[in-house]
Amino acid sequence: MDENAQTPMKGAVRDAISEQIKHELYSSYLYLSMAGSFKVANLSGFAHWMRKQSEEEREHAMKFFDFLLDRGEHVQLLSIDQPPYTFRSPLDTFEQALEHEKEITSHIHQLYDLSVQEKDYPVQVLLNWFVAEQVEEESSATEIVERLRMAGEDSAALLLLDKEMGER
Ligand code: MG
Repeated sequence: MDENAQTPMKGAVRDAISEQIKHELYSSYLYLSMAGSFKVANLSGFAHWMRKQSEEEREHAMKFFDFLLDRGEHVQLLSIDQPPYTFRSPLDTFEQALEHEKEITSHIHQLYDLSVQEKDYPVQVLLNWFVAEQVEEESSATEIVERLRMAGEDSAALLLLDKEMGER
């Protein structure tokens, strides 16, 4: 058996997936930071939601990591930036989360374009899941932003939303 029997991956595609692993792990880091900030503000429901979100992002990174390993690639992990540490309000936090998810969507779409250009069909199959997932991510973040805007300065409405977020 030839040890290089697998269909080789183009370096540009592999490097872009390594970048995407970094983006997903940064997402996990960012949401963990947001979870901590909510906990300090005694908004345990929001903190719980963000902690779950952070765990999900790590799973996204692992999907790409395992995919590279399945393709016989040795994965080089990149440095992850420090996320913001303080946030002005729950609304500010979720507005930042929504903006972040829009950036992630654009990275996923760029990666898709590259995989089409390089004719890497397995990457396109993997990315189909992520394209759909990003629609969900933007939709849920948008809904929470809208509901926080509706709650405004009403702390009873905020606490009710916090309770609901805790049920995730
Ligand atoms: Mg993600």
